[in-house]
Amino acid sequence: MEIFNKTQQSIASKIRTGSDISNWKDWKWQVKHSIRSLEKLEMLTGINFSEEEVLQLKKTFDRFPLSITPYYLSLIDTNNYINDPVFKQSFGSPRELTVLKSELADPLSEEYDSPVEGITHRYPDRVLFHVSNICSMYCRHCTRKRKVGDIDYIPSKRQLQKGIDYIRETPQIRDVLLSGGDPLMLSDSYLDWLLSEITAIEHVEIVRIGTRIPVVLPYRITNNLIKVMKKYQPLWINTHFNHPREITSSSKEALRMLADAGFPLGNQSVLLAEVNDCPRIMKNLVHKLVKNRVRPYYLYQCDLSEGLSHFRTPVGKGIEIMESLIGHTTGFAVPTYVIDAPGGGGKIPAMPNYIISWSTNKVILRNYEGIITTYKEPESYESKFCDRNCENCNLDLNLDEVDEEKAVGIEKLLSDANSTISLVPDNNERHNRRNRNV
Ligand code: SF4
Repeated sequence: MEIFNKTQQSIASKIRTGSDISNWKDWKWQVKHSIRSLEKLEMLTGINFSEEEVLQLKKTFDRFPLSITPYYLSLIDTNNYINDPVFKQSFGSPRELTVLKSELADPLSEEYDSPVEGITHRYPDRVLFHVSNICSMYCRHCTRKRKVGDIDYIPSKRQLQKGIDYIRETPQIRDVLLSGGDPLMLSDSYLDWLLSEITAIEHVEIVRIGTRIPVVLPYRITNNLIKVMKKYQPLWINTHFNHPREITSSSKEALRMLADAGFPLGNQSVLLAEVNDCPRIMKNLVHKLVKNRVRPYYLYQCDLSEGLSHFRTPVGKGIEIMESLIGHTTGFAVPTYVIDAPGGGGKIPAMPNYIISWSTNKVILRNYEGIITTYKEPESYESKFCDRNCENCNLDLNLDEVDEEKAVGIEKLLSDANSTISLVPDNNERHNRRNRNV
């Protein structure tokens, strides 16, 4: 028999739908009874806001709507909700109405890099496919605040077909990341159709799903959903835990089901002020994740989306957290700290510096304890000139299987096979002068 805690029993009984706690684990019941108004939240939690607070909060929800699953609501410590990390991620703050000049509706320029509806094609070999405009909960720190909650809908097959056709017609795409909204808000049969269409494309090697479902609606991970997704391996699943308090018996069970089914699991956390901006909290989170077979993948610097200034920390806080993880805990429990470049430059790793200095034959490094050490470079290493057709290539690699790739960025400067000696921004004045004089 299931054991529910007192908060869950109290919330279920107050929802008063004629249904009792026995529906708690039905994900559709959870979605149907999501908390979308201030009055309902006050009624279910016993929290009471002042008149002034109600006024401000209503303005906030008019701009950025509220939606919390009863399950996620039950994780809030109502006795100390003001400081509660679950409350802060799910319940709005009038501070969201403050929009700074540096903030943007679409800070990652996802819509600019969209060749067809639903697709963001930023990196050469992979695409982001927005397949849902529904989330089971509206996270207050969502980078796609501009979309989430506006109109809840699942794109029609006709709309999704445009994205599928683009993927089919673009042979360099080997990796498709399903995102949204939350792709796991699609019904099992719809997801089945979508995955069958995408995986039938010969050049698609892997599909990834980005989802917050194990965190906010773990009961969505059902045996039938697993059965559907298992047909389409290799399918990678990235979830989004931000705080150790989100790892509960229910979320652990969802993760167990996914891991047992063989899906590689990763986690992307967002660094959020007053939620997880603390080395101890983050270390505890990554330990809990790996214990549940989830590899911490990214720690994101909070994006420059509108209304998120109260969530943002200085980059230095992220570096401090990384200092407390690298070397101090298991290597694969350490995520990569990244800043998603505004304007669509993609994810840029921002890590502490461990190389202190260099000479022609030695590298001076420091470790996590502060020990400064020397790595002696090999004396007899002979760099091979790479013309993309050297002996190593011919002997060790089957060249037919190797992509002929176009070098980009610093890679281009390092490559022997490329004669570029500098990268010059488009509007460099000095170069423009030179061109005028030619
Ligand atoms: S689940 Fe993801 S897309 Fe949906 S509101 Fe949360 S962060 Fe945004």
